[in-house]
Amino acid sequence: MQPPIEHIVIVGGGTAGWMTAAALCHIFEHTSLKVTLIESDQIGTVGVGEATIPHLRYFNQRLGINEAEFMQATNATYKLGIDFINWGQKGESYLHPFGEFGKSIDGVQFHHYWLKYRESYPASVLFDYSLPSVAALKGRFDYPSRDPRSLLSSYSYAFHIDATRYASFLRAYCEPKGVNRIEGKIVDIQRDGSSGDIQVLTLESGQRICADFFIDCSGFRSLLLGNTLQSRFDSWAHWLPCNHAIAIPTEKFGTPKPYTKAIAHSAGWQWQIPLQNRVGNGHVFCDDFMDTSEAESILEQSLPSAPLANFNNIRFTAGRREQTWKNNCVGIGLSSGFLEPLESTSIYLIQVAIMKLIELFPRKAGSASLREEFNQQMRLEYERIRDFLILHYSATRRDDSDFWNHMRTLDRPDSLKLRMETFQETGYVDHYEQGLFLVPSWIAVYIGQGIIPKNYAPEVDEKENTQISQMMSHFHTNIKNAAESLNTHKQSLERLNTSN
Ligand code: FAD
Repeated sequence: MQPPIEHIVIVGGGTAGWMTAAALCHIFEHTSLKVTLIESDQIGTVGVGEATIPHLRYFNQRLGINEAEFMQATNATYKLGIDFINWGQKGESYLHPFGEFGKSIDGVQFHHYWLKYRESYPASVLFDYSLPSVAALKGRFDYPSRDPRSLLSSYSYAFHIDATRYASFLRAYCEPKGVNRIEGKIVDIQRDGSSGDIQVLTLESGQRICADFFIDCSGFRSLLLGNTLQSRFDSWAHWLPCNHAIAIPTEKFGTPKPYTKAIAHSAGWQWQIPLQNRVGNGHVFCDDFMDTSEAESILEQSLPSAPLANFNNIRFTAGRREQTWKNNCVGIGLSSGFLEPLESTSIYLIQVAIMKLIELFPRKAGSASLREEFNQQMRLEYERIRDFLILHYSATRRDDSDFWNHMRTLDRPDSLKLRMETFQETGYVDHYEQGLFLVPSWIAVYIGQGIIPKNYAPEVDEKENTQISQMMSHFHTNIKNAAESLNTHKQSLERLNTSN
C-alpha cells in the first residue's frame, strides 16, 4: 500500500479555498491529514459570486452546517430561479425555475402535452405549470414538501449569499477543526527537477512551506496550475465573448425577491441579486461591442437603489484549463476556469471539483489514472454548462444591436447544434443522469425564449383533446392555489430570524 498524503496546501482564501478547506477538514477529520491554507490580504478576493443553485445546500448538509446559521451569517435570501428579461426579444421574460413543469404522464414529458394543448389555446403559457415560477413571481417562498406525491415537492431552492461572509463563515468552521491559515503573499514556487511536481512555496516574509499535494484556489491568477505548471487555457471566447463585468452593491430595496434577475442589454446583461441587507448588481458585457463608460452608465441608470461602493471592474475570458489536475496540483475555482455568471454555476463547479477530488483522492505517489478520470469528468461538466449558456444567446430573436446579431448567428458547438435541431424538430430533450441542467432547464430556456418545436411526442395523441384540456386546467388551478398557499418570502425570512 502506498503511503497516504500527509500535508495539503490550499493556495487562496476566496470561496473556492475555504470551501475546499472545509470539505477536507470535515471528511478527513479523523485521519492524520494536515491542511494549510495560504491567503493574501494584500491581494484580496474577487469579491463577487452571490447567486447559487440548489446543490450548495447538499454541500453544507454534508458538512453538518445548520442552514439557518449559514443564512444569517451570509445575509442570505432564498432563490427559486432566475427571471430572464429581454432575452428572447425585448419586452419578454420568463423565470427559469428550480423545478418541474407539470408532471410526466405515462413516461411522456409534460411539455409534449402542453405543445398539443397550445394548438387549441395559443395563449397558454408553459411557465404557469411550474410551481416555483408562479410562486417566485408572487414573492412566495416555503420549503418544499418531502412527500413525493405532493405538488409541493416539485421544486427545489437555493440562496443568494454574501460570498465574502460565506468564506469567513467557513474559516470559522475550519480553524477549530485544525486547518492552519497562513496570511502572506507567495512570491516563489519551487518544483522537483525530475517529476516537475510542486515542492515548496516561499512567502514574501521568507517563510517556506512544503507539502505533498497542492490545491490552487488563487483565482484568475492561477498561480500554480496556470503560471507554474503551464496547464493550457482553452478559451471559449468565440462562443461566449462577454469579457468584462462591473459590479456594485446597492442599498436594500423593498422586500427581497426570491429570485435573481438577469436583464439583457444591448451588449450583455445585468444581474440583480437581493440579499437581506443589500442588493448585488452587475453588468456583464463584451467590450468589443460596448465601451466601459457606456456599460457603467447603463448600469447606473438601472440600479434599484443607492450605491454602497464604487464600481468593481473585473475582466475575464470564458474558458477552462485543459488539465485541471496536473502533477501534484488540482485547480479549483477561478484558477481552473470561468464561464460567465448567467446561470450561477461557478460555486457549483467549485463544489463538484471538491467532491470529485475527494472521491478520487490520491495517495502520496499520485496516480495518472485518477488524474485522467478527474480531468475528463471536469471537462464534461464545463462543456455541458458552456452549451447551456450559449443557448441563451443562440435562442434569441433580438436583432436590435451588433452584439445580438453576432450572438444570434454565431457558429455553435456541434454538441449544441444537434440538441437544438432535435428539439426544434421533435420537442425531445436529451437527458443525462448526472451533471447540471436537466430537462426542465433546457425546456425553460427554449420555450422561454420562443423556440417552439414543430412536433410533439406521438404518444400524446393517445389522449383525447378534452382529456388534455381537463388535465391542463386541473394543473393550472392546482399550481395557482399551491403558490398562494405558501408563505411570503418576507415571512420565511422573518421565521428564519426567529428560529435561533
Ligand atoms: P478569488 O476569490 O479571487 O480568491 C483568490 C484567493 O487567492 C484570494 O484569497 C487571494 O488572496 C489568493 N491569492 C492569489 N494570489 C496569491 C498569492 N500570490 N499569494 C497568496 N494568496 C494569493 N459564481 C457563482 O456561483 N454565482 C455568481 O453569481 C457569480 N457571479 C460572478 C460574477 C462575476 C463578475 C465573476 C467574475 C465571478 C462570479 N462568480 C459567481 C464566480 C465566483 O465569484 C467565484 O467562483 C468564487 O468567488 C471563487 O473565486 P476563487 O476563490 O476561485 O478566487
